[in-house]
Amino acid sequence: MIRSIIHDEMFLSVPSEKAGKEHLQTVQDLRDTLHSVRERCAGMAANMIGVNKNIIAVTMPFGEMVMINPVIIRKAEPYETEEGCLSLKGQRKTTRYRKITVRWQNENMEVMKADFSGFTAQVIQHEIDHCAGIVI
Ligand SMILES: [Zn+2]
Repeated sequence: MIRSIIHDEMFLSVPSEKAGKEHLQTVQDLRDTLHSVRERCAGMAANMIGVNKNIIAVTMPFGEMVMINPVIIRKAEPYETEEGCLSLKGQRKTTRYRKITVRWQNENMEVMKADFSGFTAQVIQHEIDHCAGIVI
């Protein structure tokens, strides 16, 4: 189901909690909501649709990829950039890493691990920040 986007910075600044199998409806809602705005938004965290759980969705060439409880376990090549956010107005400066390794759980709650770089890595870092209550 497509959910409305949260703009309340107080709500968005609360760190999200670990997600489990009981949050698979949120996974689907996040996928549907990101899909509905994919032309102007490359990623979304669950708290942006009002659910305070560690779930993100990222637009990939093959569709929306969901990561449950994502953690960056390695990062390299920092750079300064500016980012916008569907929940916030304007652009904000931040430091990102060109190469990251992420560990997460898929929709079957299996543990996955992969390397990402470039724009996809940037989007994942932005969404994981959302889970930590960091609003950029
Ligand atoms: Zn954002």
